[in-house]
Amino acid sequence: MKTNEFMELALEEARAAGARGEVPIGAVVVLDGTVIGRSGNRTRELHDITAHAEVAAIRMACDALGQERLTGADLYVTLEPCTMCAAAISFSRIRRLYYGAEDPKGGGVDNGVRFYAQPTCHHAPDVYSGINEVQAAEILRGFFQGKRD
Ligand SMILES: [Zn+2]
Repeated sequence: MKTNEFMELALEEARAAGARGEVPIGAVVVLDGTVIGRSGNRTRELHDITAHAEVAAIRMACDALGQERLTGADLYVTLEPCTMCAAAISFSRIRRLYYGAEDPKGGGVDNGVRFYAQPTCHHAPDVYSGINEVQAAEILRGFFQGKRD
């Protein structure tokens, strides 16, 4: 299995989000080997449906750099981004996207609208999937099982 130290941090964020009652997804933004943004889902905490882990981590990274673009930065997220996040990743000019588990129900990268393959997408990151995917999938499975019990 492909693993990565930054994905381990994203998994930590996912677990922390789950402990707060959020859907357990985590994301980390890295520039030149340094973490400049990291977050889990915060939609419930912030009453903000756009506060997905990826968007929250991008906001933190942009704030840290004092700019709206993240050219040359890489984003690690535990689950395939949804369409909204795929677009935000594109708009922020992220260089590489690494994700854990695929999301056939809600993903927008390799499933659904496949945003980066559309002619309306003007910047597509390089995409690497299946990073630490077993742990990423386990965290989500545990969360949704807990909801049903
Ligand atoms: Zn999203």
